[in-house]
Amino acid sequence: MEYRRCGRVPHDISAVGIGGEWLSGKKRDEVKSVIDAAVSSGMNYIDIFMPDPEVRSNIGSALSGRREKMMIQGHLCTVFEDGQYKRTRDIEQIKSSFSDLLTRLQTDYIDVGMLHYVDTEEDYAAVFDSEIIRYALDLKEKGVIRYLGMSSHNPVTALRAVESGLIDILMFSINPAYDMEDAETDIYKQMEFTAFSKETCRLDSARRDLCAACEALGVGIVVMKPFAAGSLLDAAKSPFGCALTPAACISYCLERPGVISVLPGLSTPEEVNTAAASLSASPDEKDYASVLSSCTKVRITGRCMYCGHCLPCSSHIDIPLVAKLTDMALAAEDVPESVRGHYGALSANADDCIECGQCETQCPFRVSVVEMMKRARRVFG
Ligand code: SF4
Ligand code: SF4
Repeated sequence: MEYRRCGRVPHDISAVGIGGEWLSGKKRDEVKSVIDAAVSSGMNYIDIFMPDPEVRSNIGSALSGRREKMMIQGHLCTVFEDGQYKRTRDIEQIKSSFSDLLTRLQTDYIDVGMLHYVDTEEDYAAVFDSEIIRYALDLKEKGVIRYLGMSSHNPVTALRAVESGLIDILMFSINPAYDMEDAETDIYKQMEFTAFSKETCRLDSARRDLCAACEALGVGIVVMKPFAAGSLLDAAKSPFGCALTPAACISYCLERPGVISVLPGLSTPEEVNTAAASLSASPDEKDYASVLSSCTKVRITGRCMYCGHCLPCSSHIDIPLVAKLTDMALAAEDVPESVRGHYGALSANADDCIECGQCETQCPFRVSVVEMMKRARRVFG
């Protein structure tokens, strides 16, 4: 298992963890078998947004006696009503559901208290200009939650929260399909869409800037929907018209700045083992760039994906890293010192580019690397 940490959460977090969604409806011994497999594989992070009392109790039972093995990301603002999940902004319901979560999980603390599903400006105001944020911060001050998080599918709203300085972890939907400029922005439409409307597309700059800002500000991203609800694994359903492997999707997510863990929905020990094994998959299995660059439905072009296919560089420049650091610098108002320091410590940087153009012939997404190096020189002086 690989472990990562971010500036605001100095704990080793497994690069792949459990999205708990599909544990709902499972029997107690089935939930235990998933947690057993996860602990054995070295996973130490689980997301529990589900308000369903049965799944909460089953996870609590599975973690009994080994609570410290798993960092729990528990959501605020979800309740169970009429036998169903419901998002709420009612403070009394939130308090009651959170208290239920602690009881059923047999614990007196939650590692990451996650403000649930904040997508619109109205959502943001309802959470951050209200009793809800005061309650969450009070829980944090008392140590009942150790870190504060927010989940979102909207890069603009998410960036606002990240820049507020209030959250330590962002849960965000990331995968190559949702990251494209032409993708739907509404999460329910995203989950259903099967085609881009243009022949060419490129990475969405708001989503790119969000990841870069998280990395620069030390906010860790945990990823939801890495397989786009499974559609990226199936050529017939994928908007790209080609199938990626789970390892390629996970690799794509882990290469975005700021990402510390990917949380696919896992409901069986076999799925846990497949997800964990993706980290040690062969370079071919992880190679999302070759698949996406040869897809039939759309041509991806223009913006760097940090895939590294352009290497080696004649001047030994780590091109994807320079691209990533430049994006991180551009996402902030002033270049963060940590980013400048990292760039300054590189053994070769954009100043060493001799404009030979070799990288551009190797980039599957036709990125103008020479221009990218010029931009890096301007940004870092
Ligand atoms: S320039 Fe092209 S090949 Fe190189 S990292 Fe960026 S997208 Fe990949
Ligand atoms: S153009 Fe610059 S970045 Fe690309 S291979 Fe040549 S020296 Fe390296």
